[in-house]
Amino acid sequence: MTPSEQHADVIVVGAGPGGSATAAWLAGAGLDVLLLEKATFPRDKICGDGLTPRAVKELIALGVDTEGWTRTKGLRILGGGHTLTLDWPETTSFPSYGMVRARGDLDEALARHAQARGAILREGVSVTGPVLEGGRVVGVEAKLVDGRGRATGERTTFRAPVVVASDGVSSRLAVAVGREKREDRPMGVAVRGYYASDRVDDYLESHLELWTTGADGERILMPGYGWIFPLDGGRANVGLGILNTSTAFGQTDYKDVMRRWVETMPGDWEFPEGSELGPIRGAALPMGFNRTPLYADGLLLVGDSGGMVNPFNGEGIDYALEAARVAADVILQARGRTTDAQREAVLQTYPRILRDELGGYFTLGRWFAKAIGNPDVMRLATRYGLPRTTLMRFLLKVMANLPQERGGGIDDRLVRAMATMAPDA
Ligand SMILES: Cc1cc2nc3c(=O)[nH]c(=O)nc-3n(C[C@H](O)[C@H](O)[C@H](O)COP(=O)(O)OP(=O)(O)OC[C@H]3O[C@@H](n4cnc5c(N)ncnc54)[C@H](O)[C@@H]3O)c2cc1C
Repeated sequence: MTPSEQHADVIVVGAGPGGSATAAWLAGAGLDVLLLEKATFPRDKICGDGLTPRAVKELIALGVDTEGWTRTKGLRILGGGHTLTLDWPETTSFPSYGMVRARGDLDEALARHAQARGAILREGVSVTGPVLEGGRVVGVEAKLVDGRGRATGERTTFRAPVVVASDGVSSRLAVAVGREKREDRPMGVAVRGYYASDRVDDYLESHLELWTTGADGERILMPGYGWIFPLDGGRANVGLGILNTSTAFGQTDYKDVMRRWVETMPGDWEFPEGSELGPIRGAALPMGFNRTPLYADGLLLVGDSGGMVNPFNGEGIDYALEAARVAADVILQARGRTTDAQREAVLQTYPRILRDELGGYFTLGRWFAKAIGNPDVMRLATRYGLPRTTLMRFLLKVMANLPQERGGGIDDRLVRAMATMAPDA
């Protein structure tokens, strides 16, 4: 090892949930893992901070200490003059609670967890591109940055036979090897802010009516939802997410929609002027595997870099954690093979496994995203769906992807059958 070139079994780029979980799994299995992160912890990440039971299950599997983290009992949905409170489903596959954890804390906890498992975390390392040999990714080039993101002028090369790009929605690394985002996948945009609030609540709250004004002054119901997620320390994460399937997408000032929504907040929450704890910030939500291939030429994509956000609800942390678990297993199994050809064949199973597990479900999500892009569908669904508790309980299982994995009731079987029958392309 020289100061300017370092080697590992696996390089993981980006220490968000996807990267840290990949590194934790691999290091826990005894591999030399370099986890490269351009920021310095604690760092903020624009997010709703919500963890469904599906995400909690991944944290449990990973052995993360979640003692003292805010727990939720379920989801309260408001829309069309109705309010419906649904508990998370009781199944043997998932815990019946979710969590809310500010990303500053969640991501640092996961990165430290990876370190504790033996991964080498290098903060302040901004990866600038791949090292290629014969068209294969065999490492990365990086520049070192200080705690404020300014380049120090130092550059380093890291080498490994396998590289994981878990560098988020923009994925500089994936783009550098020609993996651009797919236009045939839904995209969302979401904005959020932190607000002071004394209110204690065990439920995530979701508001289905978000209005904006069209070019001709008409009111347009937007495909998406607003949320209020209760956090510890007298704070709430308030935000809204919109899909690109409506005509209002791209022509709307989402921060302004959010400000007006917060000012006139329906329901029991109140956020008076001065209760905001920072600026409203926004980012994109890449959905339904919007960047492919998820593996080629030594480079795997995990999480937002591979566009793994659930089109039904905008949840991406869980899917980054799930992909991390699958990626780590595939890499580990590949290492156990004896020839390059065998190793490559195993690595190539990564996209197939993810598509088998999530492809059909994401296709349903894409259809859903397309359907609610029509304001009439959105309006009818809100008006006639919400008063029907049994239907909504079923929809919660669909939208948060929480069917019992084996057996279960007719609703669990139906959700699984729908996802199995939908094409995974
Ligand atoms: C407003 C908003 C609200 C959301 N709310 C929720 C929610 O409530 N629940 C939920 O499950 N999902 C939510 N999501 C989605 C969720 O935030 C993402 O899906 C999730 O963060 C993906 O994790 P990741 O590890 O793939 O990427 P990220 O969390 O984006 O992590 C990528 C990491 O890579 C680092 N990085 C980037 N480039 C480089 C580089 N060149 N070199 C080194 N490091 C680099 C970044 O600093 C970062 O630490 C929300 C998204 C938005 C925008």
